[in-house]
Amino acid sequence: MTDYFPATYATARQGFISEAEAAGAQITSHAHPLDDPSGEELAIDVARFGSQDAAAVVVIGSGTHGVEGRCGSGLQRIAMREGLFTELPKGVGVILVHGINPFGFAWDRRVDHNNIDVNRNFVDHAGPYPDNDAYEALFDVLNPAELDDSQAWTDAITEYASAEGPIAAYRASVGGQYIHPEGLQYGGAAPTWSNEVLTSVWRQELGKASLAINVDFHTGIGPPGFGSVMQTANVDEDASDLASQWWGGIMRSARPESADPITCGLVGLGFDETVNWAQTVSIVLEFGTRDPLEVLGAIRADNWLEQYGDRRSEKGKEIGEQMRAAFFVDDPVWRDKVTERGLEVMGQAIEGAVGS
Ligand SMILES: [Zn+2]
Repeated sequence: MTDYFPATYATARQGFISEAEAAGAQITSHAHPLDDPSGEELAIDVARFGSQDAAAVVVIGSGTHGVEGRCGSGLQRIAMREGLFTELPKGVGVILVHGINPFGFAWDRRVDHNNIDVNRNFVDHAGPYPDNDAYEALFDVLNPAELDDSQAWTDAITEYASAEGPIAAYRASVGGQYIHPEGLQYGGAAPTWSNEVLTSVWRQELGKASLAINVDFHTGIGPPGFGSVMQTANVDEDASDLASQWWGGIMRSARPESADPITCGLVGLGFDETVNWAQTVSIVLEFGTRDPLEVLGAIRADNWLEQYGDRRSEKGKEIGEQMRAAFFVDDPVWRDKVTERGLEVMGQAIEGAVGS
C-alpha cells in the first residue's frame, strides 16, 4: 500500500495513468507548455469513472499546490486500487484530476510556472483585488533578498502576532496578495494555465450534473497526519448542510463577500461559480504535516531560491528536499493515517452522491 505515494511527478503521472487504465477509466490529458526536470511532458490528467451523463458527480483533485500532489496523487491511486470507483451506481460519476499544477509538482514548488498560487487565482481579475495589509507589513520578512540560517524571521512573525493578533499574522503568512509577482502567495493578474484547464474540464465533464462535489487534496496545515475537511460556504447554504451530513465536523469559513485575502481565489470557489447549473459542494481535505513555521520556512526558502538562487545547485537541491519534507511526512504512521482518512472522505463523498 505504502508504495503508491510517488517520489517524483513523473512516477506519479505514470502510476496514475496505468492504475486508471487498469480500473477502466476514460482518460484525457491536457499538456502543459513546459517540461518536467527530466524533459518529460507535464500535464493535467483526467480519469472518468461511471456513465457520461451522470447526474451526481464527485471530482477529486490533486496537486493544486504542486508539491502537495505527492500525497494527493498517492490517495487517488490507492482509491483506484481499492476499487472505490468501480461499479458505481447508475447516475453517479467520479472524475479524478491528477496534477492540477503539474509544474509545481515536478519542481517541488507550491506555485506554478508563473509563481502563481493556483488556489489564489480563482478571483475576478477585473478587480478590485483584496488588500493584504499584514502581508505588506511583513513583506521583507517573508521575502528576504538573502537567506541565512538565522531564525530572526520567525521572531518577527511572533512579535507581529502578539502586537496585531493571530489572525493578522495568519493573513500575512497564508493570505493571498496581488501586488508582488515575485513574492509568496501571489494570486496572479489573469487566470493562469491550471485555472483555464480546470474550468474547461468542469464545463465539459459536468454539463449533465445536477449535483457536483469537489474534493481538493492539500497538505501542510494541521496536526501531523490529521485530515481536516474545510469548506468555504455560508452556514445557510444547502452546500453547508450537505457537507455536514456527509462528513460531520467541518472547518467552515464564510464565502468572501468582499475581497478577503484569506478565502479569496480558492479552486472550490471557482468550481462553485463555474458549475452554476448544479448544486455544488466544494471541500478541501487538508492533512497536517509539520510545525507551521517549519512549513512556512520551506516556502520562504523556495521563493528565495526562485528569485535569487539556482535550483540545480547543492543549496537548490537542499531546498527542494526541504519542500518535499514540509508537505509529505515520509513515515509509515503518517502514510497509514492519511490513507485511512483519505479513503474515508472519498467514500463519504461517493455515498453523498449516491444518496442525493
Ligand atoms: Zn495546499
